[in-house]
Amino acid sequence: MAKKQFKAESKRLLEMMINSIYTHREVFLRELISNASDAIDKIYYKALTDDTLSFDKDSYFIKVIPDKENRTLKIIDTGIGMTKEELETNLGTIAKSGSLAFKKETELKDGYDIIGQFGVGFYAAFMVADLVTVTSKALGSEEAYKWESNGAEGYTIESAEKDSLGTEIVLKIKENTEDENYDEFLEEYRLKSIIKKYSDFIRYPIKMDVSGS
Ligand code: ADP
Ligand code: MG
Repeated sequence: MAKKQFKAESKRLLEMMINSIYTHREVFLRELISNASDAIDKIYYKALTDDTLSFDKDSYFIKVIPDKENRTLKIIDTGIGMTKEELETNLGTIAKSGSLAFKKETELKDGYDIIGQFGVGFYAAFMVADLVTVTSKALGSEEAYKWESNGAEGYTIESAEKDSLGTEIVLKIKENTEDENYDEFLEEYRLKSIIKKYSDFIRYPIKMDVSGS
């Protein structure tokens, strides 16, 4: 007998996942920084086998930019970037880990990384943001594309402007509610301590810029 696929309500699944997998909201930053670091690794490994590419360590970094005025948190990397198709497959398919095979012991440092295993790290952004915009320009590509989602109603992809290679993620940080405070994710000292706690082993520099303050 032919097997049928389960149907799933992706909006509900995403909500469930976001609210159950992660015990601490602050880990969203670890997930985004780990993706940024993976993206730089990919250029690094490519450069090892491709003579036309050189890896100058100084030009590779991750930047975290809180902006209280606009209530945004940016995470920028100079990594390999994503093409339009990659934005579609990598960010449009929940629980499809693109870098599972790529990951080695670094991220398994403190035991089993269950989140990484499921390939849902990116969506942790929706724990703290009600709008996520990913602008990316892939290595070898002239064009940049922008992926955007509020986590509930799917996503859009359109052409965008971006000079440098890599990825820029803008999180529109949620408004505080009676029970929940999100302002902390716009505080420089708080972000620094989250980075120190979860991303201390990252091999590339993590810089912080503060704008709108
Ligand atoms: P995982 O990291 O386990 O693959 P994620 O949900 O964290 O799962 O990310 C999904 C995929 O999206 C990654 O595998 C990668 O291909 C792509 N991706 C996410 N962030 C970036 C980034 N900053 N640069 C390039 N690709 C990225
Ligand atoms: Mg990841």
